[in-house]
Amino acid sequence: MPHAVCWKADPQLIWTMVVTNGITFLSYLTICLTLFSLVRRTRKIIQRDWAYFVVGFALFIVACGTTHLMEVVTTWTPLFWIDAAANIITALLSAYVAIMLIRRSHTIGFSINDYAERLANAENEKLQMQQNLLAARKIEDWSRMSTAVAHEINNPLEAIHNLLYLIQRTQGTPREAVELAKTAADEVDRVMEISRSTLAFFRHTAEPEPVDLSTVAESVRFLLGTLLASKRISLEIHSEGDVVIEAIAGEVRQVLLNVVRNACEATAPGGPGVSINLTGSPAGVEVAIVDHGVGIDPAILATLFQFGFTTKGEQGNGIGLWSVKHIVTRHGGTVSVTSIPGEGTTVTLWWPRSSSAPSA
Ligand code: ADP
Ligand code: MG
Repeated sequence: MPHAVCWKADPQLIWTMVVTNGITFLSYLTICLTLFSLVRRTRKIIQRDWAYFVVGFALFIVACGTTHLMEVVTTWTPLFWIDAAANIITALLSAYVAIMLIRRSHTIGFSINDYAERLANAENEKLQMQQNLLAARKIEDWSRMSTAVAHEINNPLEAIHNLLYLIQRTQGTPREAVELAKTAADEVDRVMEISRSTLAFFRHTAEPEPVDLSTVAESVRFLLGTLLASKRISLEIHSEGDVVIEAIAGEVRQVLLNVVRNACEATAPGGPGVSINLTGSPAGVEVAIVDHGVGIDPAILATLFQFGFTTKGEQGNGIGLWSVKHIVTRHGGTVSVTSIPGEGTTVTLWWPRSSSAPSA
């Protein structure tokens, strides 16, 4: 007997059942087709057994839909054996899906967590990339600015250089003044070299030459004389073994100058002295710059060498250590920092005996 008989031929009841079952069938069919197309579109990346599982799931959905379609058919036509066949197929497919789902629940759970984690990491990576981009832009700005500055200061520097030359050559200039003018001219030479190479990083062309690190350390003490005197701190130099390396002299001095200046700035006025300890070995020279100043917070140790990082506010520019790392690495050396807040800092530079790396 068709269902319509059971439902007492109540047209409202019949049509409610027919329409709802019809909609359910069409929805299940659509879900099934969508899953098929999903498998087709992702077949390159999805594993084969996953594809089978999704296809089985799609068939299970459409089988469920067919039972609803049969409800519509059997409303008027009593094809109950076909209805029963649809039920058998649905039962088999639903059992398959249920078993597969239980077997895969662990993998599914893991995959979802893994995916969520990767999404979170992707956010971090994006942030990191944005930061790198920002740093790159800063460097680009700095490069442009330093090129302009180098260009602008070159002419007055040339003038000073010529005047110092004239002082040395003028008859009757006291010998002491000639010596001082020569030292000043050498320093101006160095500044000109830096300015020509736009602060030694951009388009630098100097060639490596033998550099005595103890002489460089002495010249750093000379150059920082005013700072050392005003803070009433001493700078001691200890040298052991052969401390001559092959490097770009101006750059080596710039490195030591930056590190020693930081050490002096970290030391309180009248505080304990800063020392430069040079130790030569066959492979290279270790330079340890030791201070007993404020020390460095461990939280910022990792960021010390980043371009523009400073804790000195308006007084700092955060270029010193960045350039140190840049120059030392280019020479094939290394730089490391150990520090105890409140007790002091040791910056250790290692210069290889000879540097084959040309200047950038
Ligand atoms: P700047 O000196 O312009 O701040 P640097 O690149 O030379 O830039 O140094 C970066 C930061 O590293 C400094 O602001 C300071 O916080 C820290 N630093 C470097 N050397 C020392 C040191 N010897 N003792 C304590 N802090 C230091
Ligand atoms: Mg500095």
